[in-house]
Amino acid sequence: MEDAQGRAIRYLRLSLTPACHMRCVYCRPAFHTNHAPGMLTPDEIERVVAHLVGQHGVRKVRLTGGDPTARGDLLEIIARLARIDGLDDLAMTTNGLSLAAHAREYAAAGLGRVNVSLDALDPARFAAMTGVDGLDRVLRGIDAALDAGLTPVKLNTVILREQNESQLPALTRFAAAKGVAVRFIELMPMGPLGDEWADRYVPADEMRSILNDIVQRWTPLPQGSDSAKMFRARLRDGGEADIGFITPMSCNFCSACNRIRIASDGSLYPCLMDRPTASILDAVRPRFDPGAFDNVLIEGIAGKAPEHPSRGFVTMTIIGG
Ligand code: SAM
Repeated sequence: MEDAQGRAIRYLRLSLTPACHMRCVYCRPAFHTNHAPGMLTPDEIERVVAHLVGQHGVRKVRLTGGDPTARGDLLEIIARLARIDGLDDLAMTTNGLSLAAHAREYAAAGLGRVNVSLDALDPARFAAMTGVDGLDRVLRGIDAALDAGLTPVKLNTVILREQNESQLPALTRFAAAKGVAVRFIELMPMGPLGDEWADRYVPADEMRSILNDIVQRWTPLPQGSDSAKMFRARLRDGGEADIGFITPMSCNFCSACNRIRIASDGSLYPCLMDRPTASILDAVRPRFDPGAFDNVLIEGIAGKAPEHPSRGFVTMTIIGG
């Protein structure tokens, strides 16, 4: 499945719910509630993914949200997707709060790996940014994910000016100590939260220069299908960490974009920052109709712009980062 720019679409990001236990200042507006009516059911999700894998060459699915763990039927969804032939990579992005208790169950159901958001290692900073006094739980969750084999575990950190640039060195040392990669993400202006973007945006070059205090040498790593530019960083204290920079704003990677997105309400988004082109609901309810689904899909792919718009249409908690 290719778009008008010749980009092959291989990767589905599936937002399972807009609900989340956290209220990260850059992701979930104060007015956003956890009420999420009409979400795609496990059966509908399985049929859509099986069709995308079997008929359209999708090879990778990431469960996101909101937080996927806010869904009571998450284990069923994982198990249904894990049995789809031809799906090479089933991953999940999570706030990490439920991993200490459930990482083993997710792995047993068939989840391959997790990315965990971690914006600070200082408990007060963490609580200020996420709205939850939960740093300790997330750190235990990261250990549980490693123990359960949900690897490679990757950490995601959005850097905000005057909020957590100071955390860059500690997060890098933490990644080195745990042997996990950390990816520092440039803030994106998403939906109504985009108004504060200019005051809070930190370009990746600036993050890197802050890190030069503790990094002696940066060795570029091969660019995989990942959107992060990865480096092996040799630390001045002798350690080593794999550090990535995700630069949607300073240096976008749209030309290599291989993704489409479906939100929990069935909206099809050709791009993280664009408006949805259509809903898949009529094509999946009351029963999955492959022809109708393909029409919606073709229209969506045709609507995939060469580059993302300068401002996101919805907040990340709705579309799923
Ligand atoms: N709840 C899960 C989590 O915490 O990772 C998954 C959903 S969250 C929307 C996915 C990722 O999007 C997180 O790493 C989050 O930090 C990132 N994110 C949210 N809003 C963002 C923004 N405005 N700019 C850049 N990244 C953002």
